Amino acid sequence: MSTLYIISTPIGNLKDISFRAIQTLKEVDLILCEDTRVTRKLLNHYQIKKQLISYHQYSKLRKTNYIIELLKQGKDLALVSDAGTPGISDPGNKLVRDIIVSLGNEVKIIPIPGPSAVTTALSISGFGTDRFLFLGFPPKKKKRKKFFEELINSKYPVTFYESPYRIIKTLEELRNSLNTKYNIQNTKVVVCRELTKKFETVYRGNIDKVIENIKKDKIKGEFVVIINKG
Ligand code: SAM
Repeated sequence: MSTLYIISTPIGNLKDISFRAIQTLKEVDLILCEDTRVTRKLLNHYQIKKQLISYHQYSKLRKTNYIIELLKQGKDLALVSDAGTPGISDPGNKLVRDIIVSLGNEVKIIPIPGPSAVTTALSISGFGTDRFLFLGFPPKKKKRKKFFEELINSKYPVTFYESPYRIIKTLEELRNSLNTKYNIQNTKVVVCRELTKKFETVYRGNIDKVIENIKKDKIKGEFVVIINKG
């Protein structure tokens, strides 16, 4: 029976990878990844020479069928994403779902755990995280209003991802939504930028303060936002 390993990789610092992940990447027949340039950099760092097949959000059914065919032939594959845990707000979950639908118990699916931006950010938030709501990326148009409604109505701390191009716009909209229901001075926000990387920055405070500080820093980056309405 063939095996598909779902392997978590670093979210920035190339040292944040497990021994088991490296060993498995060396042993599989092929590696499925998003951007081959990103994964090649990781593999070169660990002197792993392996064929890569790209799988991303625009991949067609033909690509999925090809991957399923490889598994049927008995090949062992690894799935990695550009950063973190495959399937967490990236195309990996669709591939895993399609493979389960097509092959069911004919394939073993084994997770090799490691970093994810969401758990990394929550771990330093200082908020109660026995329960939390993760909302992925805010929708750009349709369902955006619903996203903010869900966020302000949550009983638990809420976390989401955002791109450098939209972070200020999203935080300003979030501020306006929170303002309809809460005293925003009491609402605590943590925004983590570039976790594990050279320009790692953690902004803490009420939302006005956090927006002001992010605007002051010109450096762009990748962001995780956490809100605790207290
Ligand atoms: N699968 C990944 C994971 O497990 O975290 C997430 C993939 S999602 C396409 C990419 C988003 O994750 C980025 O836009 C950013 O919001 C967040 N992210 C990834 N790496 C990050 C980092 N080093 N610092 C802050 N946020 C990060």
